Amino acid sequence: MIADGPLRFWLDYVEREGALCERKSEFAEVLLPSNLQRSLQLPEALRVTSDPEVAAAESALLLMPGHAALDAAASEVLSRGDVGRGYVPWPASAAPTATTLITQARENIGVEHGRIDLDRDPAPIYYPFLRVGALVTYTLDDRFVEREEACVDARAGTLATEDLRRRILGSSLIGVADTHHTTLGPELGRAIAGAHAALCERTALRSRTLERQAQSALREECVRVDAYYAAALASLAARSESAEARRQTLLDAQAEATRLEHRRRVQEIELKFRVTREIAPFRLHVVFLPALALNVVVRRGERRYPLRLDWLLPAARFATPCCPRCNTCAPLIAGRSSLHCRGCSTDAMSA
Ligand SMILES: [Zn+2]
Repeated sequence: MIADGPLRFWLDYVEREGALCERKSEFAEVLLPSNLQRSLQLPEALRVTSDPEVAAAESALLLMPGHAALDAAASEVLSRGDVGRGYVPWPASAAPTATTLITQARENIGVEHGRIDLDRDPAPIYYPFLRVGALVTYTLDDRFVEREEACVDARAGTLATEDLRRRILGSSLIGVADTHHTTLGPELGRAIAGAHAALCERTALRSRTLERQAQSALREECVRVDAYYAAALASLAARSESAEARRQTLLDAQAEATRLEHRRRVQEIELKFRVTREIAPFRLHVVFLPALALNVVVRRGERRYPLRLDWLLPAARFATPCCPRCNTCAPLIAGRSSLHCRGCSTDAMSA
């Protein structure tokens, strides 16, 4: 199988480094340049697969997690990192009008006690998102690697919606913007923290699933171990019954040692079936999306609070606005003296 993640990663890597790969359904024919032959310690021409049966039938190299050539490629990519920036091309279609955007803002953003009105006509801008790729090594009885991606709003640090994530990953990016519109800078610290939190949450969920899947194997192994030690203890007890006093003391001590050994063995098994994970980021891409900056005012009676909303053109939706007071992303409230989020209003009440 060459659709398998680790093998695909390895083929992409050697191709980028100058190898020639012919991908077939079950294996790939690879021709390696001399630098890769040296660094991966492989011959010039070889077949690779991740299917043990195909490996045997086609005399192919079985490339599975844990193989030195796969580890070497992964550490090379990690040490080099994949850092860059790119722009989504400016769309040719007509941009929505200010009236449409205000209607959308009233329907989808909404501010408690406030009404959103237009302040200035929308201005074209580029809005940053951060795409983080990471290799996650899970250890559960065995050790294996999976790839994860997180896409976050690089100003707010919040996770992109699934639809937006697909659009960002599916866009062919250009290195330089194809218009002269203003580019908003990313808030990298915030964006990386957001991506890290998302990766932690996703891999924790994956770990729990893996542990659940391993439960029956864990139970089976514990039952086997329990049966083994129960038999050992029963045999010691039988021998002790017919033994003389001195020998009995010795057998009792041996039984106690066996019970301790049993507990230690069970703990060892439980530990073996507990997932540990290690997240190693290897990709950090800032992707700029065509957008429209919409300056609005939020009215509450005579009070007017300025707010900027960003309409993301490829997704046809607004980026989540942050609270003007504390900068977190939470529903906004037009208060009597300021525009703020629910968290800020709780703070104000408790102060
Ligand atoms: Zn706030």
